[in-house]
Amino acid sequence: MCCQAYSVVPIQPGDEVPDSMVRHDPATGQLGMTHLGGACIAFDRETRNCTIYAIRPLVCREVQRDDCVCRTARETMMKQSSNK
Ligand code: SF4
Repeated sequence: MCCQAYSVVPIQPGDEVPDSMVRHDPATGQLGMTHLGGACIAFDRETRNCTIYAIRPLVCREVQRDDCVCRTARETMMKQSSNK
């Protein structure tokens, strides 16, 4: 869910994701994963898996199932689906 809930997935020094999947935010000066159609560009909607799992950004590696980031993502997605 965090692959869809968070429009900003920051890239940090040491992350080795493909340049083609990264965008520069001129407002903040930061690099982040490109978001397309409501999900991270690396998110496969059919399999619901990360297509770059082995080299996913550090921020994605740090999220643990049911931690506060995970729960916030779940709540965001539930609100979005109830607003449709
Ligand atoms: S890089 Fe992979 S794990 Fe991280 S947000 Fe994108 S799809 Fe999800």
